[in-house]
This record gives sequence, structure tokens and C-alpha cells, in this order.
Amino acid sequence: MDQDTPRVLLITGASRGIGAACALRAAEAGWDVGINFHRDQAAAEHVAGQVRALGRRACMLQADVASEGAIEAMFEELDAELGPLGGLVNNAGIVDVAARVDEMSAARVARLFNVNVVGAFVCAREAVRRMSTRHGGRGGAIVNLSSAAARLGSPGIYVDYAATKAAIDTLTLGLAREVAEEGIRVNGVRPGIIATDIHATSGMLERALTQVDQIPLRRMGTADEVARAVVFLLSDAAGYVTGAALDVAGGR
Ligand code: NAP
Repeated sequence: MDQDTPRVLLITGASRGIGAACALRAAEAGWDVGINFHRDQAAAEHVAGQVRALGRRACMLQADVASEGAIEAMFEELDAELGPLGGLVNNAGIVDVAARVDEMSAARVARLFNVNVVGAFVCAREAVRRMSTRHGGRGGAIVNLSSAAARLGSPGIYVDYAATKAAIDTLTLGLAREVAEEGIRVNGVRPGIIATDIHATSGMLERALTQVDQIPLRRMGTADEVARAVVFLLSDAAGYVTGAALDVAGGR
């Protein structure tokens, strides 16, 4: 990260799981953090308190990333509260209950794409408008949360979710090349099975546990292990890394 690059980071979906772990590791690395959440204000408040305890500034930003207007308002609030943006982690993401493609409604698929893909595109747009030297910004870094599902397809469970993450991989690659000369690096992280609430949401907690046998490292990953990869990609140590997708999936 250039010395001039602002140390203000926005993380979507930072109230729980991987996003919350990213907030703590980023604060440790010297970032002030905008903590976006959707519904769970108490959880977001807890994360904000932990960031402040690490000596960094934090603000809580309620917004549904499926809403373009809410995203625009969130970035304006962040500008006012913490100042110029230097980084974005596109982390907010959802799954639905397990289903086959021949059981999926258009509404289900559209909802997943709105949150996981359209939300990430609009957040990336707002970040580029602030960080790109083309727009008078001082550069920065974007990390997009993809999933090993983008490579595996998730048959019989959530092919729709896997397809949203394949779209995220393409966003990472294309945007990285689009803004490479504008001071912005864009990378992706593809977690495997990570111990967070998301598996219970899909009714797939038991399945996630039984899949451990298929993971070469023979265990689920932790949110903190993903966060360390994210914060590395945001950092100067990754200064020559852009357009990459880093698997944090225990060898799967
Ligand atoms: P999680 O524990 O379910 O947490 C999801 C977070 O996203 C929460 O902070 C939630 O906010 C927020 N969120 C959900 N819908 C939102 C919306 N419409 N607008 C704004 N925020 C929203 O999820 P996780 O396991 O940490 O996953 C984080 C990311 O990693 C996702 O993109 C996921 O696809 C990806 N990933 C996870 C795994 C895994 O095994 N866990 C594997 C691969 C990839 P509230 O608390 O306010 O609801």
C-alpha cells in the first residue's frame, strides 16, 4: 500500500463470520474499518467495539447490498465518518436451502445474484469512483470473497450459489485489468468449508461436517484463516498481486 493511500477499509457483511474476522485482522494491520451489516446491529456493534479496542476507528453501516440506493448512502456515510476510502472487501454473501436446479425458482436465483453479484459490482463501482487515480483518488485495493464452490459447482446443493461465485471470479479478473493503471489492485479469495453461521442458514451444517473427509487437511477452516489471506491481499506485501484468486480451502 502506498504511503499516501488512505487506511480506511469498508467490509460488507462484517457483523459475523469471515467479515467480522477480516475487521479484526485489518484493524491489527492498521486499517480503520467501516462495518457493514444487514440485520444484526448488536453483532456489528460488538465488532466495532473490538476494532476500537485495537486502537483503530470504526463505524457501523447498515445497508442491504441488494439495494443500489442503500449502497450509495452507505459509501457517503463512510466518507463522512472515516474519510477517504483505501480498501474494500466485498464479503457479504448468502446461500439458500439445499436444492437441485430443477427445483429452483427464478426468484430464488435472482435473490442470490442480487446480493452476491450485483451488490459486489455496485460496491466495487463506488470504491473505484473514490480510489481510482482516474477519478482523483489515491489508489487502493479490493478483495472479493468468492468460494471453492466456483470451481466445484456444488451439485445437488446450490449450483446457483456456485454460479454467483464464478461471476465474482470474473469480476475480480476483469476489474483488476480494468483499473490496474489507476492505482487499484483487485484480488479474490476462495474459501472452502469455513466454520461460520452460513452452513446452518442453508440447513447444510451436518453435510459440511461430513465433507471434512474430502478435505486434504481433514478439517474445516476458520474465519480467521480466511481473514489473514484477505488482509495479506490488501497489504503492500501483495503489491505485485492483482487479478489473482487465492484458494483457502485446505487443499480441496
Ligand atoms: P455468514 O456467517 O452467514 O455472515 C454473513 C454476513 O453477511 C453477515 O455479516 C450478514 O449481516 C451479511 N449479509 C447477509 N446478507 C446481506 C445483505 N443483503 N446486505 C448486507 N450484508 C449482508 O457468512 P460467512 O460464512 O462469513 O461468509 C462470508 C462470505 O464468504 C460470503 O460471501 C460467502 O459466500 C463466502 N464463503 C463462505 C464460506 C463458508 O464456508 N463459510 C465458504 C466459501 C465462501 P447480518 O449479520 O446483519 O445478517
